[in-house]
Amino acid sequence: MAKRDYYEVLGVSKTATQDEIKKAYRKIALANHPDTHPNDKAAEERFKEASEAYEILSDPKKRSNYDQYGFAGVDGMGGAGNYSNVYRDFSDIFGGANGFADIFESFFGGGRRSSTRSGGRQGSSLRYELTIDFNEAVMGCKKEISFSHKVKCESCNGTGGTGRRTCPTCHGSGQVARGSGFFQVATTCPTCQGTGSIVDNPCATCHGSGTVRKSEKLVVTIPAGVETGSRLTLRGKGDAGEAGGPDGDLYIFITVREDKYFVRQDQDVYLQVPISYPQAVLGTEIFVPTIDGSEIKVSIPSGTQSGDILRLKGKGFPYINSSQRGNMYLKIVVNVPKRVSLKARRILKELSEELEETDKPTPMEYED
Ligand SMILES: [Zn+2]
Ligand SMILES: [Zn+2]
Repeated sequence: MAKRDYYEVLGVSKTATQDEIKKAYRKIALANHPDTHPNDKAAEERFKEASEAYEILSDPKKRSNYDQYGFAGVDGMGGAGNYSNVYRDFSDIFGGANGFADIFESFFGGGRRSSTRSGGRQGSSLRYELTIDFNEAVMGCKKEISFSHKVKCESCNGTGGTGRRTCPTCHGSGQVARGSGFFQVATTCPTCQGTGSIVDNPCATCHGSGTVRKSEKLVVTIPAGVETGSRLTLRGKGDAGEAGGPDGDLYIFITVREDKYFVRQDQDVYLQVPISYPQAVLGTEIFVPTIDGSEIKVSIPSGTQSGDILRLKGKGFPYINSSQRGNMYLKIVVNVPKRVSLKARRILKELSEELEETDKPTPMEYED
């Protein structure tokens, strides 16, 4: 089946503001979310379709790619498993309702859903912001991170105490309905905090939750090729589940510091290279730095114009978990010196007389 245009999916115009896009997505997601439409495949599809459209249109870079190149421009950016943007905005959009976070996790967080039926609430997934240097993104690196999360309470072995019984408020579901009218929102039960049960004799250490907060250090391996916005998932390293529920995950959101000279675009990298006028006319060989820190010999052909771009295949960023690499592009700039020596001035004058002044005005080149 042909994919529907993202703007059409959200029912907004091509010039819609971020606010309008967010509102449109919220409306569709609320109207189709699986809590009010259990076992409704069509609603689930609409929810996923809208989430994908939102993932692309809420990100200015992805949106501009989509506007310019259509689906081809965002190939691999959307789709299951890559909803980082949706995740980021999620609490913002839904006001932090736990029920929605759980739904979100069930779709995009690896298919694990809070299940009170199996005995306990899933632990929260956590977000960790990690900034690395440009060259660390080139080579990959190991980073020690410190964070605090909830772990199983040792005193009660995670049971929370003795005398556990079904919660009288929610009758074990862990959720209560809130709101009025057609769209009721399921929120976490305030009596049992979503676990579906309470204990008569709560553990003195964890006060019945079965978990305690703990600081932890971990060494994380960052693969070569990550970029700002890349997300790593450490399964089970979020908060421990309560009353036997599954553990949450730890998400590491990467920010890569920019380099002074190299400009990155996806896995490609751009470098501006100045050459002299004689070098441009006659051609030359120059050494240019690469992102790995090595140098590479490049032939500049005779007659090179200022603004010409040379491609060095495979000298860009590595693709994650792949031996393939992007390209490096050299933007040649013919350097016009502001000051020259007397001798150079003499030679330039001579050259100027030698060159025939045959240049006519050239038509302007406009970009589409
Ligand atoms: Zn305890
Ligand atoms: Zn309850």
